[in-house]
Amino acid sequence: MRRLCVIGTGYVGLVTGTFFAELGNQVACVDVDRAKIELLRSGGMPIYEPGLAELVQRNGAMGRLSFTTSYAEGMREAEFVFIAVNTPPTAESGGADLRYVEAAAKSIGQHLDHDLIIVNKSTVPIGTGDLVARIVERERKTDARFSVVSNPEFLREGSAVADCLNPDRVVLGSGDSAAGEAVAALYLSLRRPIIITDLATAEMIKYASNAMLAARISFINEMAEICEALGADVKQVALGMGYDKRIGESFLEAGLGYGGSCFPKDVKALMHMASTHGCHPQLLQAVEDINSDQRRRAVDKLREELGSLEGKTVAMLGLAFKPNTDDMREAASVDIAHMLQAAGARVKAYDPVAAGVAKGLLPDIEYCHDAYQAAQDSDAVMIVTDWNEFKQLDLPRLKAAMRLPLIVDGRNIYDGAVMRELGFTYRGTGRF
Ligand code: NAD
Repeated sequence: MRRLCVIGTGYVGLVTGTFFAELGNQVACVDVDRAKIELLRSGGMPIYEPGLAELVQRNGAMGRLSFTTSYAEGMREAEFVFIAVNTPPTAESGGADLRYVEAAAKSIGQHLDHDLIIVNKSTVPIGTGDLVARIVERERKTDARFSVVSNPEFLREGSAVADCLNPDRVVLGSGDSAAGEAVAALYLSLRRPIIITDLATAEMIKYASNAMLAARISFINEMAEICEALGADVKQVALGMGYDKRIGESFLEAGLGYGGSCFPKDVKALMHMASTHGCHPQLLQAVEDINSDQRRRAVDKLREELGSLEGKTVAMLGLAFKPNTDDMREAASVDIAHMLQAAGARVKAYDPVAAGVAKGLLPDIEYCHDAYQAAQDSDAVMIVTDWNEFKQLDLPRLKAAMRLPLIVDGRNIYDGAVMRELGFTYRGTGRF
């Protein structure tokens, strides 16, 4: 049993803290958001993540997981302090905004009263590990020693708990090999590959991985456009490609492009780092351009079928950036709703869990309590998020509710032939 402190109780921090408690460690989670800590202390959950609430509850009840707003309390006797705060993009440059990491490093420095290892889990620009070390060094009031280890996180929202318990690999980077080994020991029971490298390389592995995944999504979306023009079926194309071991099947789903809190900001941050260091990230620029085009193309399909969107009613099924999460950051739904509203359309929407969060971002659309209510009297339904429940809809009932039976399937969850058989006008993505 080791003592750990996790700074930041968002998607990564809360899952990481809970995961380490589940492995038998004593974990204190610290957040500056008082309301979040109060909620967690009273048994509530600030985010929706399958399986997480049960684990938080269980480990809390066993006394292995606690929540506090106090760094002094959280860091008491901790051998490891994980930083898992947000690193959003800056509005001007798209580079990562490090103010939360810097604030966390400052507070860690001010409360450093015994030797410990600082482990950075936030996705941060190359060189941030050294920056954290400089800040802690500057702020510390004792001669307690510390090392900084980079440990980028690869979990996916929606399957975060399973991803933590069964990661493809654990990446650790540090100039202090003993510190790297000590962090590696925390993960040994998982029996997964552990890569130990230097700080900069570990930080870069995270950006390069996300850039690759984003590039695969934009690649298949470009193929989808070509398939549509040439009469091929992108789903079959992806299947045929995916059997090739050199290619693999994942991240080849054509759709409305990537969203969420990671890919958009990490691609932007990598481009920013590259261009401020004399590189010319042409591929990443294309990845971004194709991604934003996907959303516009979906709205264009509505125009092709309906003509002007002025006064038309469009029902969006799904708002979250992907299924099994309530995360709305950089969700395709936000861009699409804005485009529809700018074109004069009335927008209705239904999402199984994200409506509450969405209301803050999209206050002017009509929220419905199910897909059928959203479809009622609409001129088109657009599938925006591929929640499982949309795959199981009573399609004749959906059609009967609609004014016009037009479906723009932004996630390719239906079969075009079946939909046409049912009397829908069906527009898939890269297929017919
Ligand atoms: P989040 O916004 O959900 O949570 C961040 C938390 O940190 C918030 O609760 C915030 O109040 C808290 N915080 C901010 N400043 C603080 C401070 N000085 N002291 C204590 N708490 C502070 O963010 P997230 O989605 O968990 O992402 C965290 C990091 O992990 C980011 O760098 C992100 O890129 C990376 N990451 C995220 C995911 C993901 O799927 N969300 C996956 C891999 C990596």
